[in-house]
This record gives sequence, C-alpha cells and structure tokens, in this order.
Amino acid sequence: MQTIGLIGGMSWESSLEYYRILNEKVKDLLGGFSSCKCLMYSVDFAEIETLQHKDEWAQLDKLMADAAVRLYKGGADMIVLCTNTMHLCSEAIVQSVPIPFLHIAEATGEEIVKHNLKKVGLLGTNFTMTKDFYKEVLTDKYGIETIIPNEQDREQIHRIIYEELVLGKILPESRETYKAIIKRLQDNGAEGIILGCTEIPLLISKNDVDLPIFDTTRIHAEKAVEWAMR
Ligand code: GLU
Repeated sequence: MQTIGLIGGMSWESSLEYYRILNEKVKDLLGGFSSCKCLMYSVDFAEIETLQHKDEWAQLDKLMADAAVRLYKGGADMIVLCTNTMHLCSEAIVQSVPIPFLHIAEATGEEIVKHNLKKVGLLGTNFTMTKDFYKEVLTDKYGIETIIPNEQDREQIHRIIYEELVLGKILPESRETYKAIIKRLQDNGAEGIILGCTEIPLLISKNDVDLPIFDTTRIHAEKAVEWAMR
C-alpha cells in the first residue's frame, strides 16, 4: 500500500470524513487490523478563507504548493487535496512535486461516466460553480455538461457553506433550501447532482434526493485508496 498525502483543513469538518472513509475503505478491502497509510498537512482555514474572498489566488497557489512539498518530503506517494474549491490551485501543486496528483473533478467525472449521465447539476462554493476550472474538466475530459443554480440560489448555497457547514452547523432548514434548489436543477434537466463541496455531504444524503448524487468527498477518498493499492 502506498502512502496518501492529504492537504486538509479546508475545512477540518470534511477532512475528518476523508480520514474516516480512507480507513473504512482499506479495512473493507484488506480486513483485520488494516488501516490507511496516510499523512495529512492541515492548514489554518481562516487564512485560506480570507485569501479566497479577496481573490488572492496567486498567494493560495503558493500555500497549496508549500503543503504539497511538505507531504512529499514527509514520504507521501501521491497528493489528495481535500476540497473542490482549492483545485483552482491544482496546477501549482502539480508543478511543485514529482508525485501524482489525484484531481477531484477527474475522480467524479469517471464516476458520472459509469452512470452514463450526460447532464448534471453542480453544487459547490461560488468559486466552484461559476469559474471554469471544475466544469472544464468534466466537459473536456468526460463530455459531461454541467448546469448550475441561478444567482440567488448560488448565493444561498455559498452562504450556507461558509456560515454553517465549514463551522460544523448542520441545520434542517438549510437542508430544505438545498433540496428546493436541487429540485429546480432537476426541472432544468439535471440527471444527477454533484455535491461539489466536501462539506455538502454532511447536509445532504441520497435519501434527500430522488436523483443520483455524486458525493465528491467519498468518491475522491475511495479513488485515493484505489490508487494506493495499485
Ligand atoms: N470544502 C469546500 C469545497 O470542497 C469549501 C471550503 C473551501 O473553500 O475549501 O469546495
């Protein structure tokens, strides 16, 4: 088994889920006392969030590259960045270390292809929903069309992520808000929904939605284990 290098802390609420899923998956596969070989470099999310909302992406590139180098020096065999949004910095990470980088949108695209879906709704931070870095991977590599909520709905999704989910607040009324937005995406032709923020699966599960959902936290973590076992 190879050692997985995780860049975490964005937020730690979802990094915990990564750690849980990695270990559960290895235990499923190998049984007994088996658990996942991994390293996590966990950042201070306060610094990251401030830079994100100031659009200081060059500075964020440096911080993500620095985290990847620390993991590489610590003995990681691959890099897993435990957030969708920060994949805006994936090029900086790829350039900084000679080990493979497991892109979350690629792992998700592979999963959507298995379900044979062509058009999916994307939920995530405003950065993930409106910038090209994520949707482009799905379209260019996998031929998947993404649709995003309208502006008002995007504001709600983004607000709930930053004011609640990353702080560990899971509120029933916010679940209802998300369900209503998902319904509107479904009415606009979405055949599945990408939970494209690693905290959204803390709020929404497959029982809340009558479409296939793509939980990026789980998909990414399980794919990392598959890589570690190759
Ligand atoms: N974890 C989130 C994501 O997957 C949002 C927090 C962040 O900005 O990194 O996009």
